[in-house]
Amino acid sequence: MQLTTQFVPIENVLIVRLEGELDHHSAARLKIDWQEEMRKNRTKHVVLNLQHLHFMDSSGLGVVLGRYKEIKQLGGEMVVCSISPPAVKRLFEMSGLFKIVRLESDESFALLTLGGGLMNNSMQLHFKSISENEAFARITVAAFVSQIDPTMDELTEIKTVVSEAVTNAIIHGYEEDPNQYVYIECSITDSTLSISIQDQGLGIENIDLAKEPLFTSKPELERSGGMGFTIMENFMDKVEIQSSPGEGTTIRMVKDFQRSKSFCN
Ligand code: ATP
Ligand code: MG
Repeated sequence: MQLTTQFVPIENVLIVRLEGELDHHSAARLKIDWQEEMRKNRTKHVVLNLQHLHFMDSSGLGVVLGRYKEIKQLGGEMVVCSISPPAVKRLFEMSGLFKIVRLESDESFALLTLGGGLMNNSMQLHFKSISENEAFARITVAAFVSQIDPTMDELTEIKTVVSEAVTNAIIHGYEEDPNQYVYIECSITDSTLSISIQDQGLGIENIDLAKEPLFTSKPELERSGGMGFTIMENFMDKVEIQSSPGEGTTIRMVKDFQRSKSFCN
């Protein structure tokens, strides 16, 4: 199997998608093409998407390390995402590359973390963890999102996911302790909205279990019981949960408005 390469420049970020097998033979070609694309597009950061790379040996690592050094010299960053075969992941681990390049689960999350030049707009918000502020949060996020011309339905969906995540932060993360804070960050990149909602509360022990529809750790409360994450996952394109017991929880969500619009038309 050959190596197929796709280069997608977005502003100062170059997305490099590799598909197939990266060995000594294909590594030589890849190096030349990759360098040419970086030069042509005045690349500062690289997102290396390895979702469809089935094989890689040390020559492949060499090409990645070589480009990392070039990017570093330009003051940029390299992020690797979506590595699928465990053997490829282990090569990265063995070589120590993960100490210098970040690993993200998905290309769009990787792009968002490189922010800067890509973002058209962003905002941050933090407020006391009292339930009165939940309405404030969802209305504020909706007002920010209105810049990308969402439909009424899309706006309602955004308000709903903000309500779910903020309510979770207040009642589960902080167990309604009013002296804590909830943090929200929103950014718009072209037609894509990303929202991060964070608390520094109790955290989630078992994320897979928490995500299951109808799972709730508070069945005593008169709520739907375990629908929050299901709603977030249905209304947004991507939802990522980062949580550590005792440290808190961050929910990152992404929605592409262009795509949902073309579905409606
Ligand atoms: P519902 O949202 O339907 O009223 P719920 O809040 O229990 O009920 P989810 O929102 O799906 O359901 O959350 C599932 C479980 O995940 C919660 O019961 C809780 O145990 C855990 N959880 C969610 N968010 C947090 C958070 N920010 N901090 C700590 N635990 C959380
Ligand atoms: Mg909930």
